[in-house]
Parts: sequence; C-alpha cells; structure tokens
Amino acid sequence: MSPSVKAKQAIFEGLLKDSVPAIRPGEARKPCVLCAGRRVSTLYMQAHFPVVRCLDCRLVYADEHFQAEDLQAFYTGDYYQRAYVCHPPEIDQKIARDYVRCFDRSRAAARGGSLLDFGSARATFLTELTRRGYGDRWNMVGVDINPDEVAMGKAQGLDVRCATLRASGLAPGSQDVVTAFSVLEHLQDPVETLQEIAAVLKPGGELVAIVPSGSCLIIHFAILASKLLGKRAKNFADNVFHEEHLYYFSPKTLTTACARAGLRVDQVFYQPSYLETHPPGILVGVGSQLLRVSSWALRRQTMLGVVATKL
Ligand SMILES: [Zn+2]
Repeated sequence: MSPSVKAKQAIFEGLLKDSVPAIRPGEARKPCVLCAGRRVSTLYMQAHFPVVRCLDCRLVYADEHFQAEDLQAFYTGDYYQRAYVCHPPEIDQKIARDYVRCFDRSRAAARGGSLLDFGSARATFLTELTRRGYGDRWNMVGVDINPDEVAMGKAQGLDVRCATLRASGLAPGSQDVVTAFSVLEHLQDPVETLQEIAAVLKPGGELVAIVPSGSCLIIHFAILASKLLGKRAKNFADNVFHEEHLYYFSPKTLTTACARAGLRVDQVFYQPSYLETHPPGILVGVGSQLLRVSSWALRRQTMLGVVATKL
C-alpha cells in the first residue's frame, strides 16, 4: 500500500470516529436529499458507511455522517493527488481537454462572457481554457475550498478564490456560465449547492456539470463482484465507489435536483472516466476497452453530464 493511500484512510478514520450511529437494515441514517425518504436498499458497504439507493426516488447516495468541518479538513493539502494516486500529469491534461469539450456544449461557449468554474481544484480546466485563447472572450474565475490547490491556480496567474460559493464575493446573477466538473458528488447537499450556483447565474445562464452515474455498467459489475467474491473484490469495488463520492446520479435524479434549483436540463450526455480511458496496465487495458465499448453501446458510461439553463 502506498503512503498516499494510508494517509487517505487515516483521514477518514479520524473524521468518522465517535460519529456513527447504529445502522438499521432498510432505513438510512441520512434522509434522501431529493424526497426526504429513509427507505433504502444497500448497494455496497464502504469501509466507513453504506452506499444506498432511495427506494422512493432511486437516488444513490452515501449514508454518511460527516460534519461540514470534517469535509473541509479532508479537502486540504494535495487532496487531488492523495485521492487519485494513479493520476499522472498527462491524465490531468486529458481530463482538462475533456472538460473543455463539455464546456463547448454550452450555447455561450463561442460567444464569451463571465465564467465561474465551481470546485476549480488546481485550475487545470481554467489553465487549458487560457492556453486555448478563451481568455480573450471569457472573464474567468475559479472557486474552491482547498487552499493548497487554489494556490496552484494563483501561481498560474488565474483569478481563483479559496472560499465556499456563498463567501466567494460573486454577485448574484453575475455569471453567464458555471461549470461544475466532478464536484457536486463531493458535497453533502447537492440541491443546496445547485441553488447557490443558480443564484450566481444570470437568467438564461447555463450550468455545465459532470457527475458519476449511478447506473453505469462498472457499478453493476462492482456490486455483482462484491456479492460473488466478497473481500476478494474489495479493492476493485472500493475503486469504483470512491469514499469521497457522496452521490451517484441518473438523468432523472440529476434533472430533479436541477429543477429544485430552478435549472432546466437541456442536454444529457455520458462520457467514460479516466479509469476507462487510462487503464494502469495491459490486461486491465483490454478489460477496460471491453467495458468502454459495452458501456457506450448500452448508454451505461461512468460519467453523466448535463447542460442546464437558469429559468
Ligand atoms: Zn429519495
């Protein structure tokens, strides 16, 4: 086990001690954020909490018990490298190029205006936009709660702010586009987050977001493997169900969450994750190519994207 993985586990164990009430089968400790229901089926038992599916609205979520300050403590230092130890820099660049393609789906992409990248991390997306000359027509700002990664973005000369969205100083109704790439699933209340995003969008402004899909093929494989093989499949299943991912969406649940925030979903799209596009070895590579093709054919890819308009 690498030192990075140990550090991540130590953080989770430190966060969760003293805070876990008893689990009652079929009933979640944390009510569903979309329908307030507590009737759930457990999909997978993480090391520290179960991942469950709401029986009423089908939202998939981690039945976790974090405090807000616990999450802030987790997203410090070199979180990104700690959590995604298999990421070499070229994968970061590939991901940034994928994010630009997603951003180009917005109606405003060619026109320009004001852009907030929410959860900008180390600002690889904004750096890629700048490298491609988008800075000529886009006034760009990034917001993230991780001070160490915000410092990396500032070192690139970008306007990135270490704050929650509410404390970021962005005026209500000021943004033409907000991007939120792989960030909604990390936060405890995605509906509240979407409402905060909607508040800084202009009427007619657009959200472009990517989240993990709760119905992708690899999740079905992971659930099946953990049922059939038990602990022998744990490494694989733990990689599929990242502990820091608190939500997994479907087009329906993500559309419902957006609607609660006054956002109308105009486009839904899928894309493979870096695990499928950048497998760590040849054998894994063959498997991931098979997975990639079948996920594409069945519309069961790992990442779900939306473009939504503020009404
Ligand atoms: Zn529900």
